[in-house]
Amino acid sequence: MLQFSLREMAKFLSVFSVRNLLVLSLALNVSLVLRVLVLHDSQNGSFNGFFFEKQNGPQEEAHASKRARLSSSVSSSSSSPLTMAQGDQDRVINLDHGDPTMYENYWQKKGDETTIVIPGWQFMSYFSDPTSLCWFLEPEFAKQVVRLHKVVGNAVTENRHIVVGTGSTQLFQAALYALSLKTEAEPVSVVSAAPYYSSYPVITDCLRSGLYKWAGDARSFSKNGPYIELVTSPNNPDGFVRHSIVNRSEGILIHDLAYYWPQYTPISSPANYDLMLFTVSKSTGHAGMRIGWALVKDEDVAKRMTKYIELNTIGVSKDSQLRAATVLKVISDSCERSDEEGDSFFEFSYRLMAKRWKQLREAVHQSGLFSVPDFPPQFCNFLIRVFEPQPAFAWVKCEGEIEDCESFLRGKKILTRGGKHFGVSPKYVRISMLDRDNNYDTFVERMSTIQS
Ligand code: PMP
Repeated sequence: MLQFSLREMAKFLSVFSVRNLLVLSLALNVSLVLRVLVLHDSQNGSFNGFFFEKQNGPQEEAHASKRARLSSSVSSSSSSPLTMAQGDQDRVINLDHGDPTMYENYWQKKGDETTIVIPGWQFMSYFSDPTSLCWFLEPEFAKQVVRLHKVVGNAVTENRHIVVGTGSTQLFQAALYALSLKTEAEPVSVVSAAPYYSSYPVITDCLRSGLYKWAGDARSFSKNGPYIELVTSPNNPDGFVRHSIVNRSEGILIHDLAYYWPQYTPISSPANYDLMLFTVSKSTGHAGMRIGWALVKDEDVAKRMTKYIELNTIGVSKDSQLRAATVLKVISDSCERSDEEGDSFFEFSYRLMAKRWKQLREAVHQSGLFSVPDFPPQFCNFLIRVFEPQPAFAWVKCEGEIEDCESFLRGKKILTRGGKHFGVSPKYVRISMLDRDNNYDTFVERMSTIQS
């Protein structure tokens, strides 16, 4: 450590004029004020509106936990949340978004298996396959989509067109466009049973389209004429398996199957619907790649969805499709090569979700202020075992006197999304189960100690 004598210090300071010192002092004060402001904003949740607590990157977490093998990473990370670091009591835990960062550990352990290098001169064209219906679909990505669905057995791909999208969010809009073109003067009604995914109403109405219009809860929908029903199964936010409920002949269905993967729910049979949406965001955890795909039975619908994406973004990033193809391939390989214990992606993620749901149920029981849904167990044809669904979100109800569960938990520095966003009572909140270990552990520890 450097040490100055008073004399040396005086000599050092003498080279500065009073003006220099004033400027230095001003700079130090401004930086202090800015720091306080940023901290203040982050406490209020207004920093970027997205992330604001310090998030440990995978590198830091890996160093912290030093897990030797994937198989042991689930059990070793099950170290009691009671061993929380000091200061964690005051940390804001943001579980509002379903950001799937819990998968980082798995992919980090996979190392270079999913690394791809794209030379600057390759994949420059807009086109992937000009002869194909979806001309911007990378053939390798399409091949790996079909392979993964076969390996997992969660969707029929025979006699289906694949349309790739910038996330399933874009495909949802492409589907609305494709399915409502033929309608009459009035915009077609778009419905989903409450509690429904909070983005559906906002996305449907954001451009005030003349083609389609959000019409709310499918259970109370009674208008005659054509309608589009969104069936999300397992459902976001509550995790239940769902079927269409309006059941009228003029209805067209979009099945959003973002969570129909074995880490979240037993795979009972291959989904076999007319229009199914999937995404890497919740299956592999690569939300930042922004890749989703639709399996579409009707050729004209697939063509119109392709047209929408052409008009909207002139295709979908080839770089992302190639990266997604590699990730899907590594998953399929990991499932087929089940000799290495814990190497299978779905085994790893299933066990992590099981552990998290167990922790949450214990915390809810200990607190006595909350409840979470119970799910009937079912046989999973992929994992060859019976288990209860373990959804990507916890649909938590504040029991007793608490009317606004979101505000109540915000008071405890836990950020969630309240029931009103999903078309139901504010007594409910949706909580992401997919955050990094350190945030999740702090969250369950805090929940267990909450008393009114
Ligand atoms: N559908 C559902 C039901 C979702 O929960 C999400 C992600 N929250 C999406 C679609 C959007 O997925 P993507 O990231 O592929 O746009």
